[in-house]
Amino acid sequence: MSTEVVATSAVSDAQQQSPSAPTQQKSVEKVNLLGMSRPQMEKFFEDMGEKKFRAGQVMKWMHQFFVTDFAEMTNISGKLREKLEKIAEIKAPEVVHKNYSKDGTRKWVFRVGEGAGSLVETVLIPAEHRSGLRRTLCISSQVGCALDCSFCSTGKQGFQRDLNQAEIIGQLWMANYSYMEDVPVLERERSVTNVVMMGMGEPLLNYDAVLNSMRTMLDDFAYGMSKRRVTLSTSGVVPKIDQMVKDIDVALAISLHAPNDELRNELVPINKKYPLEQLIAACQRYIAKDGNESSRKHVTIEYVMLDGVNDHPEHAQQMIKLLKNLPSKINLIPFNPFPHAPYGRSSRNRIISFQKTLSDAGFVCTIRQTRGDDIDAACGQLVGQVADRTRRAEQWKKKVAAKNEILRSQG
Ligand code: SAH
Ligand code: SF4
Repeated sequence: MSTEVVATSAVSDAQQQSPSAPTQQKSVEKVNLLGMSRPQMEKFFEDMGEKKFRAGQVMKWMHQFFVTDFAEMTNISGKLREKLEKIAEIKAPEVVHKNYSKDGTRKWVFRVGEGAGSLVETVLIPAEHRSGLRRTLCISSQVGCALDCSFCSTGKQGFQRDLNQAEIIGQLWMANYSYMEDVPVLERERSVTNVVMMGMGEPLLNYDAVLNSMRTMLDDFAYGMSKRRVTLSTSGVVPKIDQMVKDIDVALAISLHAPNDELRNELVPINKKYPLEQLIAACQRYIAKDGNESSRKHVTIEYVMLDGVNDHPEHAQQMIKLLKNLPSKINLIPFNPFPHAPYGRSSRNRIISFQKTLSDAGFVCTIRQTRGDDIDAACGQLVGQVADRTRRAEQWKKKVAAKNEILRSQG
């Protein structure tokens, strides 16, 4: 990858915090408009001495027609387009690997910095639904994750850094664009119907960037998604769940994975800070007291099925007790093994009988279909492989450079 990409994204990151920065930047360092929320974009135009409605116009070109070249924005004057070209750019993160599976699953690995440890992945999973074809995009929010859940390959990488808004929205932009590349600009449509913040990282530990990105997802000048179709998944950062209630109305999923504190401390270590009682209380506060329109009528409970660890009948009974006062839907996730994982996947029979116990107790309980296995689309695993390849390529480059150096020194 070119160093230019790295330099630009580092600058964009800083500028997103302060959209007025471009006037202070050197001419080569352009501000990336891709991730800006509408208020940030309006401020950007106002700081340029332009009307703020330009924000909506540019956002539509970017997010609805997937245009990255200002010259193609025909309802914007030539003079303003020239001005924009000098100080701004529209740039999605660099795709280093993409793979489209036979079953329709699509997967991208993006490079968001130097080296093998700066890769994030995004997965798109299509499914027939009674309302039509759903295309659900699983978006990453951080490079790695600090929370170190014992069954999660992202956690094993440790935390590298937060993604900025351009890198988060860039994933949605790229997935939509992948269906429209060959379509004439004015006939382009938005193809992704649902977003789940369930990729790499803990979204509530990158709160501001994730919040602004979700606002762009809901914004009619951008992706215009229904709030019920944007879901944030968290392992349980309790204060931030309360903050979300004030800031945005989207669906919430909780990575529960264990029905008692002792086991959850082991599987999801953040439980030591925010134990189950606090987590369930926060979920109850999240449930909206008003109206039918809200996306907050229930929370989704995610539960990864680990063979012999959390899949006993008594665990199902404990779940029933734990969730009895929480409007919830339960999603059982067959564990996706990864190299050196200390767990195995529960058997199909075990998962089905766990589901039956919960359904018999009156819960809506589904089993997540594992999709895209042929391209390792399942949760944080392709990054591992691409990172290995990148590391090998880096080592190989170093070896070649060293050899050349020896040859040069020998004359
Ligand atoms: N950090 C957030 C969101 C990203 S993880 C969270 O934990 O909710 C998205 C989901 O994938 C979580 O429910 C997580 O527990 C689950 N997951 C992680 N590793 C998994 C694995 N190896 N197999 C199955 N599900 C996994
Ligand atoms: Fe982080 Fe979520 Fe993985 Fe836990 S499951 S380590 S919170 S990404």
